[in-house]
Amino acid sequence: MLGNFSYSNPTKLYFGEDSLNYLNEELPKYGKNVQLAYGGGSIKKNGIYDKVMEILKANGKNVFEDGGVMPNPTVEKLYEGVKIAREHKVDLILAVGGGSVCDYAKAVSISVHCEEDPWEKYYLRMEDVDNEIIPVGCVLTMVGTGSEMNGGSVITNHETKLKIGHVFGENVFPKFSILNPTFTFTLPKYQMTAGFFDIMSHILEQYFSGEDDSTSDYIMEGLLKSLIHSSRTAIKNPADYEARSNIMWIATWALNTLVAKGKTTDWEVHMIGQSIGAYTNATHGMTLSAVSLPYYRFLLPYGLQKFKRYAVNVWDVNPDGKTDEETAEEGLSCMESYMKELGLVMNIRELGVTEEMLPGIADGTFVMEGGYKVLTHDDIITILKKSM
Ligand code: NAP
Ligand code: FE
Repeated sequence: MLGNFSYSNPTKLYFGEDSLNYLNEELPKYGKNVQLAYGGGSIKKNGIYDKVMEILKANGKNVFEDGGVMPNPTVEKLYEGVKIAREHKVDLILAVGGGSVCDYAKAVSISVHCEEDPWEKYYLRMEDVDNEIIPVGCVLTMVGTGSEMNGGSVITNHETKLKIGHVFGENVFPKFSILNPTFTFTLPKYQMTAGFFDIMSHILEQYFSGEDDSTSDYIMEGLLKSLIHSSRTAIKNPADYEARSNIMWIATWALNTLVAKGKTTDWEVHMIGQSIGAYTNATHGMTLSAVSLPYYRFLLPYGLQKFKRYAVNVWDVNPDGKTDEETAEEGLSCMESYMKELGLVMNIRELGVTEEMLPGIADGTFVMEGGYKVLTHDDIITILKKSM
Protein backbone atom coordinates (compact mmCIF):
# COMPACT_ATOMS: atom_id res chain seq x y z
CA MET A 1 0.00 0.00 0.00
CA LEU A 2 1.23 3.48 -0.80
CA GLY A 3 1.58 5.80 2.16
CA ASN A 4 0.10 9.29 2.12
CA PHE A 5 2.12 12.05 0.49
CA SER A 6 2.09 15.35 -1.29
CA TYR A 7 4.06 15.84 -4.46
CA SER A 8 5.28 18.77 -6.48
CA ASN A 9 8.63 19.63 -7.96
CA PRO A 10 9.42 23.30 -8.45
CA THR A 11 12.53 22.94 -10.65
CA LYS A 12 12.04 23.93 -14.27
CA LEU A 13 14.17 21.81 -16.59
CA TYR A 14 15.49 22.63 -20.04
CA PHE A 15 16.79 19.50 -21.73
CA GLY A 16 18.69 19.00 -24.98
CA GLU A 17 21.42 20.26 -27.24
CA ASP A 18 19.99 23.79 -27.41
CA SER A 19 19.04 24.05 -23.77
CA LEU A 20 21.67 26.62 -22.81
CA ASN A 21 19.81 29.21 -24.91
CA TYR A 22 17.02 29.10 -22.33
CA LEU A 23 19.31 30.82 -19.87
CA ASN A 24 18.17 33.92 -21.77
CA GLU A 25 14.62 33.23 -20.61
CA GLU A 26 15.55 32.61 -17.00
CA LEU A 27 18.08 35.35 -16.28
CA PRO A 28 15.69 38.32 -16.67
CA LYS A 29 13.64 36.92 -13.77
CA TYR A 30 16.43 37.75 -11.30
CA GLY A 31 18.36 40.84 -10.21
CA LYS A 32 21.63 42.06 -11.67
CA ASN A 33 24.15 40.39 -9.38
CA VAL A 34 25.02 36.81 -10.24
CA GLN A 35 27.43 34.58 -8.33
CA LEU A 36 28.94 32.15 -10.81
CA ALA A 37 29.92 28.97 -8.97
CA TYR A 38 32.09 26.41 -10.75
CA GLY A 39 34.67 23.73 -10.08
CA GLY A 40 38.36 23.29 -10.71
CA GLY A 41 38.45 24.44 -14.30
CA SER A 42 36.89 21.80 -16.56
CA ILE A 43 34.36 24.36 -17.81
CA LYS A 44 37.16 26.65 -18.92
CA LYS A 45 38.80 23.86 -20.93
CA ASN A 46 35.65 22.65 -22.67
CA GLY A 47 34.28 26.09 -23.52
CA ILE A 48 31.14 26.00 -21.36
CA TYR A 49 32.44 28.88 -19.22
CA ASP A 50 32.76 31.16 -22.28
CA LYS A 51 29.28 30.29 -23.50
CA VAL A 52 27.71 30.97 -20.11
CA MET A 53 29.65 34.21 -19.64
CA GLU A 54 28.54 35.47 -23.02
CA ILE A 55 24.89 34.95 -22.10
CA LEU A 56 25.35 36.53 -18.66
CA LYS A 57 26.95 39.61 -20.21
CA ALA A 58 24.32 39.83 -22.95
CA ASN A 59 21.72 39.94 -20.18
CA GLY A 60 23.53 42.81 -18.46
CA LYS A 61 24.52 40.86 -15.34
CA ASN A 62 27.31 41.74 -12.91
CA VAL A 63 29.15 38.47 -12.52
CA PHE A 64 30.95 37.55 -9.30
CA GLU A 65 33.13 34.55 -9.86
CA ASP A 66 33.24 31.76 -7.33
CA GLY A 67 35.45 29.07 -8.86
CA GLY A 68 37.42 26.29 -7.23
CA VAL A 69 34.49 24.34 -5.83
CA MET A 70 36.14 21.01 -5.14
CA PRO A 71 34.59 17.55 -5.58
CA ASN A 72 32.96 16.86 -2.19
CA PRO A 73 32.74 20.58 -1.28
CA THR A 74 34.07 21.54 2.14
CA VAL A 75 32.68 23.64 4.92
CA GLU A 76 35.57 26.13 4.48
CA LYS A 77 34.61 26.64 0.84
CA LEU A 78 31.01 27.15 1.94
CA TYR A 79 32.07 30.00 4.25
CA GLU A 80 34.06 31.52 1.37
CA GLY A 81 31.05 31.40 -0.93
CA VAL A 82 28.80 32.96 1.70
CA LYS A 83 31.27 35.84 2.01
CA ILE A 84 31.14 36.52 -1.74
CA ALA A 85 27.33 36.39 -1.75
CA ARG A 86 27.05 38.77 1.21
CA GLU A 87 29.67 41.21 -0.08
CA HIS A 88 28.00 41.57 -3.47
CA LYS A 89 24.39 41.14 -2.40
CA VAL A 90 23.88 38.50 -5.06
CA ASP A 91 20.44 37.92 -6.53
CA LEU A 92 21.11 34.53 -8.13
CA ILE A 93 23.69 31.79 -7.71
CA LEU A 94 24.39 30.08 -11.00
CA ALA A 95 26.06 26.70 -10.55
CA VAL A 96 27.92 25.45 -13.60
CA GLY A 97 29.30 21.97 -12.96
CA GLY A 98 28.49 18.63 -11.41
CA GLY A 99 26.72 17.62 -8.25
CA SER A 100 29.41 19.16 -6.10
CA VAL A 101 28.89 22.61 -7.57
CA CYS A 102 25.08 22.31 -7.44
CA ASP A 103 25.14 21.02 -3.85
CA TYR A 104 27.52 23.82 -2.90
CA ALA A 105 25.36 26.48 -4.53
CA LYS A 106 22.38 25.28 -2.50
CA ALA A 107 24.48 25.33 0.68
CA VAL A 108 25.54 28.93 0.02
CA SER A 109 21.98 29.90 -0.91
CA ILE A 110 20.58 28.88 2.48
CA SER A 111 23.55 30.16 4.49
CA VAL A 112 23.81 33.76 3.31
CA HIS A 113 20.99 34.94 5.59
CA CYS A 114 21.58 32.35 8.31
CA GLU A 115 22.46 34.06 11.58
CA GLU A 116 24.24 31.05 13.06
CA ASP A 117 26.95 28.75 11.76
CA PRO A 118 25.18 27.05 8.83
CA TRP A 119 27.26 23.88 9.18
CA GLU A 120 25.93 23.41 12.69
CA LYS A 121 22.36 24.44 12.00
CA TYR A 122 21.73 22.88 8.61
CA TYR A 123 24.09 19.90 8.50
CA LEU A 124 24.88 18.79 12.05
CA ARG A 125 21.44 19.58 13.48
CA MET A 126 19.59 19.05 10.15
CA GLU A 127 17.17 21.91 10.77
CA ASP A 128 14.72 23.14 8.14
CA VAL A 129 15.57 26.42 6.49
CA ASP A 130 13.72 29.30 8.09
CA ASN A 131 15.65 32.23 6.64
CA GLU A 132 15.65 33.88 3.21
CA ILE A 133 17.13 31.72 0.44
CA ILE A 134 19.01 33.06 -2.58
CA PRO A 135 17.66 31.44 -5.77
CA VAL A 136 19.88 28.85 -7.47
CA GLY A 137 20.06 27.85 -11.14
CA CYS A 138 22.18 25.00 -12.51
CA VAL A 139 23.94 24.25 -15.76
CA LEU A 140 24.81 20.58 -15.34
CA THR A 141 28.09 19.18 -16.68
CA MET A 142 28.30 15.84 -14.84
CA VAL A 143 25.51 13.32 -14.51
CA GLY A 144 24.73 11.24 -11.46
CA THR A 145 23.67 13.03 -8.31
CA GLY A 146 20.25 14.31 -9.36
CA SER A 147 21.17 17.52 -7.54
CA GLU A 148 19.79 19.44 -10.53
CA MET A 149 16.22 18.67 -9.46
CA ASN A 150 16.31 17.94 -5.74
CA GLY A 151 17.01 19.56 -2.40
CA GLY A 152 20.06 17.45 -1.56
CA SER A 153 23.26 19.14 -0.48
CA VAL A 154 26.29 17.26 0.81
CA ILE A 155 29.07 19.12 2.63
CA THR A 156 32.30 17.67 4.02
CA ASN A 157 34.09 18.71 7.19
CA HIS A 158 37.57 17.21 7.05
CA GLU A 159 38.48 18.41 10.52
CA THR A 160 35.70 16.44 12.21
CA LYS A 161 35.75 13.73 9.50
CA LEU A 162 32.06 14.08 8.74
CA LYS A 163 30.46 14.19 5.32
CA ILE A 164 26.82 15.08 5.78
CA GLY A 165 24.04 15.24 3.23
CA HIS A 166 20.88 17.11 4.10
CA VAL A 167 17.88 16.57 1.85
CA PHE A 168 16.17 19.93 2.07
CA GLY A 169 12.63 20.75 1.06
CA GLU A 170 11.24 22.30 -2.09
CA ASN A 171 12.30 25.81 -1.08
CA VAL A 172 15.92 24.75 -1.62
CA PHE A 173 15.47 23.01 -5.01
CA PRO A 174 17.12 24.83 -7.95
CA LYS A 175 14.69 27.21 -9.61
CA PHE A 176 15.82 25.97 -13.00
CA SER A 177 18.34 23.52 -14.44
CA ILE A 178 19.83 23.25 -17.89
CA LEU A 179 20.63 19.73 -19.05
CA ASN A 180 22.64 19.48 -22.22
CA PRO A 181 23.90 15.89 -22.68
CA THR A 182 26.77 17.05 -24.91
CA PHE A 183 28.19 19.04 -21.98
CA THR A 184 28.98 15.71 -20.32
CA PHE A 185 30.97 14.32 -23.25
CA THR A 186 34.28 15.67 -21.92
CA LEU A 187 34.02 13.81 -18.62
CA PRO A 188 36.95 11.47 -17.95
CA LYS A 189 35.87 7.81 -18.04
CA TYR A 190 36.41 7.41 -14.28
CA GLN A 191 33.98 10.24 -13.50
CA MET A 192 31.50 9.13 -16.14
CA THR A 193 31.25 5.59 -14.77
CA ALA A 194 31.23 6.80 -11.15
CA GLY A 195 28.21 8.88 -12.14
CA PHE A 196 26.53 5.86 -13.73
CA PHE A 197 26.88 3.94 -10.50
CA ASP A 198 25.69 6.87 -8.40
CA ILE A 199 22.47 6.72 -10.43
CA MET A 200 22.16 2.96 -9.97
CA SER A 201 22.75 3.33 -6.26
CA HIS A 202 20.11 6.06 -5.90
CA ILE A 203 17.59 3.74 -7.47
CA LEU A 204 18.61 0.69 -5.44
CA GLU A 205 18.55 2.66 -2.17
CA GLN A 206 14.88 3.36 -2.82
CA TYR A 207 14.07 -0.06 -4.32
CA PHE A 208 15.49 -2.27 -1.56
CA SER A 209 13.06 -1.17 1.09
CA GLY A 210 9.59 -2.37 1.95
CA GLU A 211 7.54 -5.24 0.60
CA ASP A 212 4.37 -3.43 -0.46
CA ASP A 213 3.23 -3.52 -4.06
CA SER A 214 4.36 -0.06 -5.13
CA THR A 215 4.16 1.55 -8.57
CA SER A 216 7.49 3.16 -7.74
CA ASP A 217 9.21 -0.23 -7.79
CA TYR A 218 7.99 -0.87 -11.34
CA ILE A 219 9.19 2.59 -12.41
CA MET A 220 12.57 1.90 -10.83
CA GLU A 221 12.91 -1.45 -12.60
CA GLY A 222 12.33 0.39 -15.88
CA LEU A 223 14.87 3.06 -15.01
CA LEU A 224 17.42 0.40 -14.06
CA LYS A 225 16.93 -1.51 -17.32
CA SER A 226 17.35 1.66 -19.33
CA LEU A 227 20.44 2.62 -17.34
CA ILE A 228 22.08 -0.79 -17.76
CA HIS A 229 21.37 -0.74 -21.49
CA SER A 230 22.54 2.83 -22.14
CA SER A 231 25.61 2.65 -19.91
CA ARG A 232 26.81 -0.42 -21.82
CA THR A 233 26.59 1.63 -24.99
CA ALA A 234 28.18 4.73 -23.45
CA ILE A 235 31.15 2.81 -22.10
CA LYS A 236 31.99 1.72 -25.66
CA ASN A 237 31.17 5.05 -27.25
CA PRO A 238 31.03 7.97 -24.80
CA ALA A 239 29.89 10.31 -27.58
CA ASP A 240 26.72 8.30 -28.25
CA TYR A 241 24.10 11.04 -27.79
CA GLU A 242 21.22 8.62 -27.50
CA ALA A 243 22.83 6.75 -24.62
CA ARG A 244 24.17 9.82 -22.82
CA SER A 245 20.91 11.72 -23.10
CA ASN A 246 18.96 8.75 -21.73
CA ILE A 247 21.39 8.45 -18.84
CA MET A 248 21.10 12.16 -18.06
CA TRP A 249 17.33 11.85 -17.87
CA ILE A 250 17.44 8.65 -15.77
CA ALA A 251 19.75 10.38 -13.28
CA THR A 252 17.25 13.17 -12.80
CA TRP A 253 14.29 10.83 -12.29
CA ALA A 254 16.27 8.55 -10.02
CA LEU A 255 16.49 11.27 -7.39
CA ASN A 256 13.96 14.02 -7.92
CA THR A 257 11.76 12.59 -5.13
CA LEU A 258 9.11 11.00 -7.40
CA VAL A 259 10.03 7.34 -6.94
CA ALA A 260 10.33 7.71 -3.17
CA LYS A 261 6.77 8.92 -2.77
CA GLY A 262 4.52 6.67 -0.73
CA LYS A 263 7.23 4.14 0.07
CA THR A 264 10.05 3.65 2.54
CA THR A 265 13.68 4.00 1.45
CA ASP A 266 17.03 2.80 2.74
CA TRP A 267 20.11 4.99 1.92
CA GLU A 268 22.58 2.93 3.97
CA VAL A 269 25.01 2.51 1.04
CA HIS A 270 25.21 6.30 0.79
CA MET A 271 25.72 6.59 4.54
CA ILE A 272 28.68 4.18 4.46
CA GLY A 273 29.98 5.77 1.24
CA GLN A 274 29.85 9.25 2.73
CA SER A 275 31.77 8.18 5.79
CA ILE A 276 34.44 6.67 3.52
CA GLY A 277 34.44 9.97 1.63
CA ALA A 278 35.10 11.91 4.83
CA TYR A 279 38.23 9.79 5.44
CA THR A 280 39.54 9.50 1.88
CA ASN A 281 37.93 12.26 -0.24
CA ALA A 282 37.29 9.48 -2.79
CA THR A 283 34.95 9.99 -5.76
CA HIS A 284 31.38 9.63 -4.52
CA GLY A 285 30.13 7.02 -7.03
CA MET A 286 33.18 4.82 -6.43
CA THR A 287 32.65 4.80 -2.68
CA LEU A 288 29.19 3.38 -3.44
CA SER A 289 30.37 0.80 -5.97
CA ALA A 290 33.03 -0.46 -3.56
CA VAL A 291 30.57 -1.25 -0.76
CA SER A 292 27.35 -2.11 -2.60
CA LEU A 293 27.84 -5.83 -3.25
CA PRO A 294 29.09 -6.67 0.26
CA TYR A 295 26.18 -4.66 1.65
CA TYR A 296 23.53 -6.28 -0.53
CA ARG A 297 24.93 -9.77 0.00
CA PHE A 298 24.77 -9.12 3.74
CA LEU A 299 21.20 -7.85 3.40
CA LEU A 300 19.89 -10.56 1.06
CA PRO A 301 18.53 -12.99 3.70
CA TYR A 302 16.52 -10.16 5.29
CA GLY A 303 14.92 -8.99 2.04
CA LEU A 304 14.95 -12.22 0.07
CA GLN A 305 11.75 -11.73 -1.94
CA LYS A 306 12.81 -8.28 -3.15
CA PHE A 307 16.24 -9.54 -4.14
CA LYS A 308 14.58 -12.36 -6.06
CA ARG A 309 12.31 -9.88 -7.82
CA TYR A 310 15.34 -7.72 -8.66
CA ALA A 311 17.11 -10.73 -10.20
CA VAL A 312 14.12 -11.70 -12.33
CA ASN A 313 12.77 -8.29 -13.35
CA VAL A 314 16.01 -6.36 -13.79
CA TRP A 315 18.62 -8.99 -14.69
CA ASP A 316 16.31 -11.45 -16.47
CA VAL A 317 17.38 -14.35 -14.29
CA ASN A 318 15.25 -17.43 -14.96
CA PRO A 319 13.97 -18.66 -11.56
CA ASP A 320 12.82 -22.07 -12.84
CA GLY A 321 14.27 -24.95 -10.86
CA LYS A 322 16.13 -22.62 -8.47
CA THR A 323 15.55 -21.81 -4.84
CA ASP A 324 14.67 -18.19 -4.05
CA GLU A 325 18.16 -17.75 -2.58
CA GLU A 326 19.83 -19.08 -5.74
CA THR A 327 17.78 -16.76 -7.94
CA ALA A 328 18.46 -13.76 -5.70
CA GLU A 329 22.19 -14.49 -5.55
CA GLU A 330 22.35 -14.88 -9.33
CA GLY A 331 20.88 -11.39 -9.65
CA LEU A 332 23.71 -9.97 -7.56
CA SER A 333 26.24 -11.96 -9.62
CA CYS A 334 24.84 -10.38 -12.79
CA MET A 335 25.19 -6.98 -11.14
CA GLU A 336 28.79 -7.81 -10.23
CA SER A 337 29.66 -8.75 -13.83
CA TYR A 338 28.05 -5.54 -15.08
CA MET A 339 29.99 -3.45 -12.57
CA LYS A 340 33.26 -5.07 -13.65
CA GLU A 341 32.35 -4.47 -17.29
CA LEU A 342 32.02 -0.75 -16.48
CA GLY A 343 35.38 -0.75 -14.71
CA LEU A 344 34.00 0.43 -11.37
CA VAL A 345 36.06 0.36 -8.19
CA MET A 346 35.10 -2.86 -6.38
CA ASN A 347 36.97 -2.48 -3.07
CA ILE A 348 37.61 0.30 -0.60
CA ARG A 349 41.35 -0.39 -0.34
CA GLU A 350 41.69 1.03 -3.83
CA LEU A 351 40.10 4.24 -2.52
CA GLY A 352 42.78 4.61 0.15
CA VAL A 353 40.97 2.97 3.06
CA THR A 354 43.22 1.19 5.57
CA GLU A 355 42.34 -1.32 8.33
CA GLU A 356 43.00 1.35 10.97
CA MET A 357 40.31 3.60 9.47
CA LEU A 358 37.50 1.03 9.73
CA PRO A 359 36.30 1.76 13.30
CA GLY A 360 36.24 5.50 12.58
CA ILE A 361 34.38 4.99 9.30
CA ALA A 362 31.84 2.82 11.10
CA ASP A 363 31.45 5.46 13.85
CA GLY A 364 30.84 8.14 11.21
CA THR A 365 28.19 6.08 9.39
CA PHE A 366 24.63 7.18 10.08
CA VAL A 367 22.33 4.22 10.60
CA MET A 368 19.11 4.35 8.60
CA GLU A 369 15.94 2.52 9.52
CA GLY A 370 14.23 1.96 6.16
CA GLY A 371 16.35 -0.94 4.89
CA TYR A 372 15.79 -4.65 5.46
CA LYS A 373 17.99 -4.59 8.55
CA VAL A 374 18.97 -1.80 10.91
CA LEU A 375 22.76 -2.18 10.99
CA THR A 376 24.69 -2.51 14.22
CA HIS A 377 28.24 -1.17 14.55
CA ASP A 378 29.50 -4.75 14.14
CA ASP A 379 27.40 -5.21 10.98
CA ILE A 380 29.02 -2.09 9.48
CA ILE A 381 32.48 -3.37 10.37
CA THR A 382 31.65 -6.74 8.77
CA ILE A 383 30.48 -5.02 5.56
CA LEU A 384 33.55 -2.75 5.51
CA LYS A 385 35.88 -5.74 5.99
CA LYS A 386 34.16 -7.57 3.13
CA SER A 387 34.64 -4.42 1.03
CA MET A 388 38.41 -4.41 1.58
P1 NAP B 1 31.58 16.40 -9.06
O1 NAP B 1 32.32 16.27 -7.76
O2 NAP B 1 30.66 17.53 -9.22
O3 NAP B 1 32.61 16.38 -10.26
C1 NAP B 1 33.60 15.39 -10.32
C2 NAP B 1 34.72 15.78 -11.25
O4 NAP B 1 34.23 15.82 -12.58
C3 NAP B 1 35.33 17.14 -10.96
O5 NAP B 1 36.70 16.96 -10.88
C4 NAP B 1 34.94 17.99 -12.15
O6 NAP B 1 35.99 18.87 -12.56
C5 NAP B 1 34.76 16.96 -13.24
N1 NAP B 1 33.81 17.38 -14.26
C6 NAP B 1 32.52 17.76 -14.11
N2 NAP B 1 31.95 17.99 -15.31
C7 NAP B 1 32.91 17.79 -16.24
C8 NAP B 1 32.94 17.84 -17.66
N3 NAP B 1 31.84 18.12 -18.38
N4 NAP B 1 34.10 17.56 -18.29
C9 NAP B 1 35.21 17.22 -17.59
N5 NAP B 1 35.23 17.12 -16.25
C10 NAP B 1 34.11 17.40 -15.58
O7 NAP B 1 30.81 15.01 -9.27
P2 NAP B 1 29.35 14.57 -8.89
O8 NAP B 1 29.41 13.11 -8.76
O9 NAP B 1 28.37 15.16 -9.81
O10 NAP B 1 29.10 15.20 -7.44
C11 NAP B 1 29.57 14.57 -6.28
C12 NAP B 1 29.05 15.26 -5.03
O11 NAP B 1 27.62 15.23 -4.99
C13 NAP B 1 29.52 14.54 -3.78
O12 NAP B 1 29.83 15.45 -2.76
C14 NAP B 1 28.32 13.71 -3.41
O13 NAP B 1 28.30 13.35 -2.05
C15 NAP B 1 27.19 14.64 -3.76
N6 NAP B 1 25.86 14.00 -3.97
C16 NAP B 1 24.75 14.77 -3.94
C17 NAP B 1 23.50 14.23 -4.12
C18 NAP B 1 22.27 15.08 -4.09
O14 NAP B 1 21.16 14.56 -4.00
N7 NAP B 1 22.39 16.37 -4.15
C19 NAP B 1 23.36 12.86 -4.37
C20 NAP B 1 24.51 12.08 -4.43
C21 NAP B 1 25.74 12.66 -4.23
P3 NAP B 1 35.94 20.46 -12.31
O15 NAP B 1 35.90 20.65 -10.83
O16 NAP B 1 37.20 20.93 -12.93
O17 NAP B 1 34.72 20.99 -12.99
FE1 FE C 1 24.73 9.68 -4.62
